[in-house]
Amino acid sequence: MHMAFLCPVCEQQTQCECNDGTEVLKCEHCDWSRTIPNDAIDNGATHSCIACGCGDLWKQRDFPQWLGITFVAIAATLSTIAWAMYENIWAIGILMAFGLLDYIFYAIMPDVLVCYRCRARYRHSTDEEAIPKFDHETAERYHQEEIRLGNSIKSPPSQ
Ligand SMILES: [Zn+2]
Ligand SMILES: [Zn+2]
Repeated sequence: MHMAFLCPVCEQQTQCECNDGTEVLKCEHCDWSRTIPNDAIDNGATHSCIACGCGDLWKQRDFPQWLGITFVAIAATLSTIAWAMYENIWAIGILMAFGLLDYIFYAIMPDVLVCYRCRARYRHSTDEEAIPKFDHETAERYHQEEIRLGNSIKSPPSQ
């Protein structure tokens, strides 16, 4: 299983391979490390985040955002040119062709698992089926937790 996470101390990204025998997760850039619980990785799969211990992960297509934006930009440009040249069929055809290309890419892309709390990403986990898709309520819960923790660091309760 391949993972990428942001170090909670130096906030730089570390990428590493981890499997059932991996015991410690280390930052490549500073001294931060975290002991991985024995049962956290089972047969090359994880159901919780080994970078922060969070029990909630979501699954999404590993589709790079820049690629999607590039598709839209090229399709819009070509289609506008065709439209300006009164080639209406081409203008619509170009949009449909890129829409189809986008769909094909989306269908063949592998999945990536993402941690709700620290946004660590896991690729090639052997049990991706067990992980649900993105859920707004869960994300909101972690967002609220982040705000609470952030506030408590900046302004600790007076008692
Ligand atoms: Zn670090
Ligand atoms: Zn995490």
